[in-house]
Amino acid sequence: MMREKCLICDSSDLKQIIDLGSHPFADTFVPESRVSEPDLIYPLVCDLCQSCGNVQTRYETNPLLRYSQIEYSYTSSNSAFSRNHWDEYAKEVSDEIKQKPDSLVVEIGSNDGYLTQQFLKNKNRVLGVDPSPYMAELAKQRDVKTIVGLFGKEASEEILRDYGKADLVIANNVFNHADNPVEFTKSVSDILSSEGSFVFEQPYWLISIKSGKFDQIYHEHVSYFTVKSAKKLLERAGLAIKSARVVDYHGGSLRIIAQKKENVISESLEAKKLIEEEESYGTFKLETYQAFMKKNLEQRNRFMQKVHKIKEEGHPIIGVGAPAKGNTFLNFYNLDNSLIDYVTDSSPHKKGKYTPATRIPIVGDEIFSKYGKVYALILSWNLANQLKEKLYAINKNIELLVPEENN
Ligand SMILES: [Zn+2]
Repeated sequence: MMREKCLICDSSDLKQIIDLGSHPFADTFVPESRVSEPDLIYPLVCDLCQSCGNVQTRYETNPLLRYSQIEYSYTSSNSAFSRNHWDEYAKEVSDEIKQKPDSLVVEIGSNDGYLTQQFLKNKNRVLGVDPSPYMAELAKQRDVKTIVGLFGKEASEEILRDYGKADLVIANNVFNHADNPVEFTKSVSDILSSEGSFVFEQPYWLISIKSGKFDQIYHEHVSYFTVKSAKKLLERAGLAIKSARVVDYHGGSLRIIAQKKENVISESLEAKKLIEEEESYGTFKLETYQAFMKKNLEQRNRFMQKVHKIKEEGHPIIGVGAPAKGNTFLNFYNLDNSLIDYVTDSSPHKKGKYTPATRIPIVGDEIFSKYGKVYALILSWNLANQLKEKLYAINKNIELLVPEENN
């Protein structure tokens, strides 16, 4: 089904800005038992709302298929870098909003419960909401109780009935997955106490387009937020931005703290500045995206010439890291198991599986020790510095392949 209206302001004035071809779900790695089954594949096209500046994917996919059919593989705590980020997140947010010890903290998209668990240190009461029964089970081992399901009106009513109002609602990298972000935000507003805070963090669209990166785009990400579009969305749910900042996660994320409109006396200065920056960069103009696509297509042609030459010479190419965004990259470049020998990842939830559609086996980094000359393509580019060090310690003959490099 196609989305014909803006998910934030209901306008039907949508213009296509990005077309990446057909893609499977990016975050569902395929187990051995399903390796010969076909993947569900949908066109990956983004539209820009001419009225409010929201960017959204055009083709609607079924959220239940996205998260519960095949075991969802991402865990919040799968790297030291991630754990550090969430530890600091919990400290910074707790410092910024003053909480009573018995406050209720609700995390939507609580995953394996790692971040939610940090709030137990403040003696807060905590509750997770997540569609994956598998993740809820992992969270239970951290003493985080989880409501299994997608967040919306029904879940918010259950929370109000069984737990009361929340003083802090968290939704990181999940709110942009919602098919109905207005209903989602209204439901957050419903469970928020009168002085409560809603904190969310997700990849920042301005940074993605500035850096020429298209791989934050995948079916699981329905909306691509700017401060301008987030502000509009919050307004519709009776909320306003209290603070906004850019943080170094997922290659550059936007963290917004919102409260009930009546508590936010003046508009956040940081938010105002970021909106000005978005406007002046051309974030809401079609020409910006024509240039963006042209650059990416040229880069792909150049890079694939290099890849074919390496394969003719008989050298292996190994992808490093199996993040969801890596699958957007592999599928857009048509890099399948005939060109990429392996993808490595440290997560036990991914090793032994295959990348969707491209069917590249996922193994550990130690695979690099089996080769002399070998090429590495870092798919988790946001962690490139840490990964490089680790790789060279395994094999000093590794040659790095960087798509952005021209030679
Ligand atoms: Zn709109």
